[in-house]
Amino acid sequence: MKKILVTGGAGFIGSHLCERLLKEGNEVICLDNYFSSHKSNIIGLKANPYFELVRHDITQPYFAEVDEIYNLACPASPIYYQHDPIKTIQTSVMGAINMLGLAKRLKAKILQASTSEVYGDPIVHPQKEDYWGNVNPIGIRSCYDEGKRCAETLFMDYHRQNKVAIKIIRIFNTYGPNMNINDGRVVSNFIVQALRGEAITIYGDGMQTRSFQYVDDLIEGMVRMMNSDPTFIGPVNLGNPMEFTMLDLAKTIVKLTNSKSQIVFMPLPKDDPKQRQPEIELAKATLNGWEPKIQLEEGLIKTITYFEGVLNSPLESVYPDLAGG
Ligand code: UDP
Repeated sequence: MKKILVTGGAGFIGSHLCERLLKEGNEVICLDNYFSSHKSNIIGLKANPYFELVRHDITQPYFAEVDEIYNLACPASPIYYQHDPIKTIQTSVMGAINMLGLAKRLKAKILQASTSEVYGDPIVHPQKEDYWGNVNPIGIRSCYDEGKRCAETLFMDYHRQNKVAIKIIRIFNTYGPNMNINDGRVVSNFIVQALRGEAITIYGDGMQTRSFQYVDDLIEGMVRMMNSDPTFIGPVNLGNPMEFTMLDLAKTIVKLTNSKSQIVFMPLPKDDPKQRQPEIELAKATLNGWEPKIQLEEGLIKTITYFEGVLNSPLESVYPDLAGG
């Protein structure tokens, strides 16, 4: 049994990770400040005596004896991370320093949840790990993109300078149950709009692309990465290479929900990347042939079922609606 710290453990991805690690017989400390997450995501885990929930903001140091750290804490949806951009960059940078300091002291292994956002609005397509990206350093997405880039730098420097055992994954667009209903991201927005019979809001002409990964595939890749050969530190892309336009996505969700919602076109947010698709050859080669197993329609059906449950429960209002909708 390992003792594992998960920062951001009450979030969308963190909650699935905590569940998986507990299932494997580990002891889990879940750290969260609930800025863009909610206790409802991990309520089912609280009965497990090997699960410990701690309210903590990782911009402040935290100490506990653990063997492994998964560093996920950071708001990841544009609406949430742009709500308090200084706090967002502090979370990425100070959070990384605090968690790397802890890993160094404990000689613990630490995995950084980095992001495809480090590639910015990519000129190279699909994105391979050796591409350095095309990031605006002074735009409205920079607090997240540059914060995550700086965190990667810190991980590499703690590794080179202090021999900390690190792992870096770059997560591409991921969706599934436990996404925050007011998250503002495309999959949750479209599903909730379709279920409520509201207009489906496409930003721009809908021809921009993303590649959507179901959360279970990501969790499998994360755990394999943490347990991979110690000489392999990444960064490694984890995503589903199937690429879709936002228009395709909207039509698929309307079809799967049998919705009568109309599709409407709204202004494109600033610095919105035009395309994004992971190259996953490195993950396949280094993580025992890992590749996504759940394709879009199958994953969307599970996610639609989840949101139907949320819309019919009193929990619907627990997340602040930062979009003001
Ligand atoms: N998007 C959209 N309608 C929405 C929310 C998002 O058309 O209601 C678009 C957004 O402009 C972007 C894509 O969907 O081009 C993915 O946006 P999301 O915020 O989910 O993720 P990210 O831009 O960080 O990949």
